[in-house]
Amino acid sequence: MRPAMLPFALPHIDGSDESGVLETLRSGWLTTGPQTKAFEQEFATAVGAEHAIAVNSCTAALELALAVADVHEGDEVITSPYTFAATAEVIRRRNARPVFADINRRTLNIDPACVEEVITPRTKAIVPVHIGGLPADMDALLPIAERHGIRVIEDAAHAFPASYRGRRIGSLSDFTCFSFYATKTMTTGEGGMLCTNDTAAAERARRLALHGISNDAWRRNAAADPWRYEIVEAGYKSNMSDIAAALGRSQLRRGGEMRDRRRQIAEAYDKAFGERDTVETPYCPPDVEHSWHLYTLRLRPERLDVGRDEVIRELRACNIGTSVHFIPLHHHRYYQEAFGYDCSQFPVASSEYQREVSLPIYSKMTDGDVQDVIDAVSTLLDAHTL
Ligand SMILES: *Cc1c(COP(=O)(O)O)cnc(C)c1O
Repeated sequence: MRPAMLPFALPHIDGSDESGVLETLRSGWLTTGPQTKAFEQEFATAVGAEHAIAVNSCTAALELALAVADVHEGDEVITSPYTFAATAEVIRRRNARPVFADINRRTLNIDPACVEEVITPRTKAIVPVHIGGLPADMDALLPIAERHGIRVIEDAAHAFPASYRGRRIGSLSDFTCFSFYATKTMTTGEGGMLCTNDTAAAERARRLALHGISNDAWRRNAAADPWRYEIVEAGYKSNMSDIAAALGRSQLRRGGEMRDRRRQIAEAYDKAFGERDTVETPYCPPDVEHSWHLYTLRLRPERLDVGRDEVIRELRACNIGTSVHFIPLHHHRYYQEAFGYDCSQFPVASSEYQREVSLPIYSKMTDGDVQDVIDAVSTLLDAHTL
């Protein structure tokens, strides 16, 4: 057994990250400024978007996108119940109703047929989540949105870098929101990016992200009357600091390299577990590039004498950290009390949740770490096969 716990996730920080941040700390400009502007341009280029607005979380990016898409009280926004709290809470914060649509069993992504069933005249937007970094079925979702005149806002918190049928995630729809949280595929500590190809929407989002004022501090600094600004609407306080952006720039430069390492780990897991009839390995169609943020293994409970929770406990006892993605939102008290959802709904999300266990997959893992996971999971499955 491993002598020390293998964490489920760890950021991958190297010397280039440290020197970028240190340089910014010593530069005298810490808030949104030259580092943030450069990070936005480099990120937009990396994902093929016209505009990228750096913010302090993906949650903030999602909320700004909903605001710019004019989601208001009484509106409905369709999303997946198989996601993190952030995806639906921002809909609620716009005083709109989160309307869940069940997921596809194989991909764990929102099922376009289920989306179509819940569209009403009040539907304002669809928020697909690229779960684990596997792009949602955009070729089905985009035409549905187009036909009904509703906006698409992608929760791409897991999906940098990923592409769907030759097109990069970040370039496909009205808005795409990325996360740079500490455990995501690249990090700024806390941070996010809102991408869009719509220039007017980008300008409004940028303004809303900083109190709804007409000019940010960096641009003001260079203007003729640097003290002058105008409040145009009541906004948010969601801007990214240059300290975070400096980290983002060096992380972005290694984004492809870190993804390649995660892909290697995914391939090693596929090879080790793909032939076993006690588990199912994650599905990845040939025409997408997966970011491999998560490796979602699914147990076959009918072939095992233990359940998912016990598997997690036993792996933990072997010093292997794992997690579950996700406890569906309709299983949470808040969504049950506020909107009348219950656990009997969205049967695919509910049943897949019961048998899902996420294995560690991050670029800092050594080959020895990967082998330790494979050995521990294999031993456990052998011991519990019916
Ligand atoms: C992490 C996450 C978010 C929120 O990202 P933050 O940057 O922490 O706000 C949103 N959606 C999903 C699916 C996530 O996993």
